[in-house]
Amino acid sequence: MGGNELDYIRNAFDANWISQYGSNIDEFENSLERYFGNNSYVTALSSGTAAIHMALRLLNVEKDDFVLCQSFTFVATANPILYQKAIPVFVDSESETWNMCPDALEEAVKYCVQQGKKPKAIIAVSLYGMPFKVDEILQISKKYDIPLIEDSAEALGSRYKDQLCGTFGDLSIISFNGNKIITTSGGGILISRNIEVKNRTLFLATQAKDNEVYYSHSEIGYNYRMDNIAAGIGRGQLETLEEKIQLRRKNHDFYQETLKNHENIDLFSAPNSDFFSNYWLNTIILKNDFSKEKLKDKFLQNNIETRYLWKPMHLQPLYEQYKFFGNNLCGMLFDTGLCLPSGTNLTDESRGRISEILEDEIH
Ligand SMILES: *Cc1c(COP(=O)(O)O)cnc(C)c1O
Repeated sequence: MGGNELDYIRNAFDANWISQYGSNIDEFENSLERYFGNNSYVTALSSGTAAIHMALRLLNVEKDDFVLCQSFTFVATANPILYQKAIPVFVDSESETWNMCPDALEEAVKYCVQQGKKPKAIIAVSLYGMPFKVDEILQISKKYDIPLIEDSAEALGSRYKDQLCGTFGDLSIISFNGNKIITTSGGGILISRNIEVKNRTLFLATQAKDNEVYYSHSEIGYNYRMDNIAAGIGRGQLETLEEKIQLRRKNHDFYQETLKNHENIDLFSAPNSDFFSNYWLNTIILKNDFSKEKLKDKFLQNNIETRYLWKPMHLQPLYEQYKFFGNNLCGMLFDTGLCLPSGTNLTDESRGRISEILEDEIH
């Protein structure tokens, strides 16, 4: 927590608006709409997963529809496809941003069309804070007229060609889960491009009550609204966002410096100046049969936690029966990659301990 979170929570208690209405929700949404600009309409929800589910509902994804989905991601990106009983078709990553490969995507689109069904949506992810190849993915989305859902759960504050992640999709989502760059404890937003979609989102996220004086329901709704306490935390957190991004990027500078002459380790970095990452996590790829398990153990012996990269969806027991397009680059990333400590609270002392281990491993 960074600053005024408790004051905003206290406001909610003073007003006795604890639940799914109140000024924190309104102000949090307003601030985020100003932040994203570009005709962005923000609906605050209970999680990023809920926001992805809402996006699929808004696009009328139904049983047996195809949804194209980046394989290299956290499972929350894909699960809402199954909530709708639709069929995920997984797409590999390219090597520059580790996100959805435009060539594999187009192959997947063609496969679906051959099956007689145009996919209902494309879900592209900006993983670890790195924007995907927005121009190339948007071009395919437009060429085949398939709406783009942008999963920028990890990419708040990241930019592509100076434009913020969260503004590229027909629908975009951000997560405020506890591990993300700012948090509301649990929460997320759906960003849409017009007020009608926002109103429809609100309707679906609050049990889809018809406009009657009694409780009348004609379609399935959800209990997905963010509450006024969580939104209070979000307001306080949002004020610290720029500082948090700076701290994450400072971590990246540290790793760049530490690893610049390391022949067995590649630090994952922006391919060129079009890509501005918040560097939510710093990740590395180990080369020359240098083992990720060994390095992970070495860190662990020094009481430092590292983690494996996301295991791709097409390699998960839950999803291995579904189609996958690409050459399994994301599987290779999973096999050889590691996430390094990247928190905003990393001290110089901690950095010193980390660089000692990394330098030790050069030899
Ligand atoms: C965290 C995350 C989500 C889900 O967000 P929650 O708020 O935890 O439900 C979705 N996609 C990605 C890539 C994530 O990292």
